[in-house]
Amino acid sequence: MSAPEFGTLDHVDYEKVELVSPLIRRVIANNPSKFTYKGTGTYIIGRGDVVVIDPGPRLDSHRDALVAALAGERVQAILVTHCHADHSPLAAWLGGETGAPTFSFGPHPRPEPGSAAVEPPGDGVEIEESTDYDFVPDNAVVDGDLVVSTSQLTMRAVYTPGHTSNHTCWSLDEESALFTGDHVMGWSTTVVSPPDGDMSAYIDSLRRVAGRDDTMLWPTHGPPRADGRRFVESLVEHRLQRERGVLAAVRDGRTSIPDIVALLYTDVREELHKPAGRSVWAHLVKLVTDGQVEVEGSSNPALDSTYRAV
Ligand SMILES: [Zn+2]
Repeated sequence: MSAPEFGTLDHVDYEKVELVSPLIRRVIANNPSKFTYKGTGTYIIGRGDVVVIDPGPRLDSHRDALVAALAGERVQAILVTHCHADHSPLAAWLGGETGAPTFSFGPHPRPEPGSAAVEPPGDGVEIEESTDYDFVPDNAVVDGDLVVSTSQLTMRAVYTPGHTSNHTCWSLDEESALFTGDHVMGWSTTVVSPPDGDMSAYIDSLRRVAGRDDTMLWPTHGPPRADGRRFVESLVEHRLQRERGVLAAVRDGRTSIPDIVALLYTDVREELHKPAGRSVWAHLVKLVTDGQVEVEGSSNPALDSTYRAV
C-alpha cells in the first residue's frame, strides 16, 4: 500500500465563517503552527439551533469571530474532541455565554509530577501540544452516546483514544459525516506521545474509523477527506510499517531510542529527532505490550530504557 496522501488548505481566510457543506460552517483560528498546520478549524453545525465542535484556542480574535458567527443562533451543545490547548480552551467561555452544555469523554488525566509528560527531556524544544488541564466537560460521554437529537441534527460520540486518552470524534448522521479532531488529520500524521498517547489504542481507533461508512471526514486541521476508508487504511499501514522498522532495528541490536531514531529517521532534520523519539517510544510501548520486545531490567518502557527483542 502506498504512503498516505495528505492534502493542503491553500487559501485560509482567518476568523471568517465559511459554509463548507449544507449543514456545516467552519471558522479557522489564526493560530498556525507546526502542530496546528494553518490553524484550528471550529465547526458550527446546523442553523438556528446549532452545535459547536472544538471552540478552539484562547485567542481574542477567535472568540470575537465566534461571537459574530453565532449571532442570532441558539447554541445547543458544545462538543470537544480532546483538550489540547488549540481545541478546548474557549469551551468554558462559550458555555458561559450561551448556557450550552459541554460534552467530551472527560478531562485530561493530570500527569504524575516529574513524569516525562510534565517535563519533556531536552533543551526546551517544543515537542508536544500543550494540554488544557482546566477543561472539565459538563457531560462526560462514552462511546456511542447520542448527544444531539433535534429535527435537524443527530450527533453521537465515537470514542477514538490514541492521540490522547480522551480523544472523541463526533458523527453527524444527516451528512454521514465524522468530525475527527486530531485523530485523523487532513495534512499530516498525528502525534502519538506516551504516556497519555497510546499507539495500540491509536491503531485500533483508526481501524474503527476505517470500518465506518462516513461519507466525509472533517479534521480540525487541514482539508476534509471524501476517501475516508482508503485514507485511514493508509494511515494504519504507515504506522505498522514504522512498527516493523522499529522491531527490525531492535532485532538488529539497536537498544536505545536515540539509536533507533538515528537509523530510521535519516531523512528527517535533526531538530525533529526529539519528537521522532516520542513516536518510537510509542511504538516500543506497543511492541512490549504485544510481547515482541522487552525492557532490560523488566521496568516500564521509558524514553531512556534499554530494549531488546524477545
Ligand atoms: Zn491534539
